[in-house]
Amino acid sequence: MKIEANRLILDDGQSAPFRQTPNISQGRTIDPQYLVIHYTAGSSFDSSVNWLTHPDAQASAHLVIGRDGEIMQLADFTARTWHAGKSSWRGLNGLNSHSIGIELDNAGILTRTADGWRSSFQKTYPEADGMEAAHKNDGVMRGWHRYTLNQIEALVAIGSALVREYGLKDVIGHDDIAPHRKTDPGPAFPMDMVRARIMGREDDREERVKATAVLNIRSGPGTRFDKIRPPLPKGTEMIVTGEDGVWIAVTVLDGDEPTDTGWVHSHFVAEV
Ligand SMILES: [Zn+2]
Repeated sequence: MKIEANRLILDDGQSAPFRQTPNISQGRTIDPQYLVIHYTAGSSFDSSVNWLTHPDAQASAHLVIGRDGEIMQLADFTARTWHAGKSSWRGLNGLNSHSIGIELDNAGILTRTADGWRSSFQKTYPEADGMEAAHKNDGVMRGWHRYTLNQIEALVAIGSALVREYGLKDVIGHDDIAPHRKTDPGPAFPMDMVRARIMGREDDREERVKATAVLNIRSGPGTRFDKIRPPLPKGTEMIVTGEDGVWIAVTVLDGDEPTDTGWVHSHFVAEV
């Protein structure tokens, strides 16, 4: 992907879908220095795009990414959108004037049900879509909606293009710049991995591991999750894409070709 005239251009050369939000500071442009990540706390990609382009929202972002990796740009990347609110970071106040905001379709905080999870807007989610974790800002254990691999891959591609175009200094969370008000993107978001990949830092080595034994691969981080395919043979190589305690999210490789994605126990892998 790349940026032309402050709009996202997809790998096929077409412009990304664009729907202008009225919720911008008209006549003002910004020189973006940071990329700020948010979750929508919404029920769907479409509902979040509709809300963030509605004048009543008095809120917006530059771009929304859905759970299948679908994209809608809502404003030029140099428009001053309204995603950060009262906020500060590294001596800057009011990050709307200094950052690009990306919203990820994600329900946010979830509460447990008998067989899964429920959002604040009463939508239910299967067990594998949620995780329990403490937020770094308050240490409180809660349920959180997981992000999808397609969503994270789209974000890394877009974020990398934004860094190349604007020379952004870092990727940060709304919960970094407004820690007493905001919990997004929260502990389900793999910030270290995303930041490393987008910023292309030294720790941006692709972490490759191999199975040291015949290895079960599951739909989620725990033995209560279903096995998604027959066990991986010893020696199978994988790329690590995330972690949750002793469980790691992996993309299974056949040669250099990705085949399956799932979760394996980190005890049974070794670095390649
Ligand atoms: Zn936010």
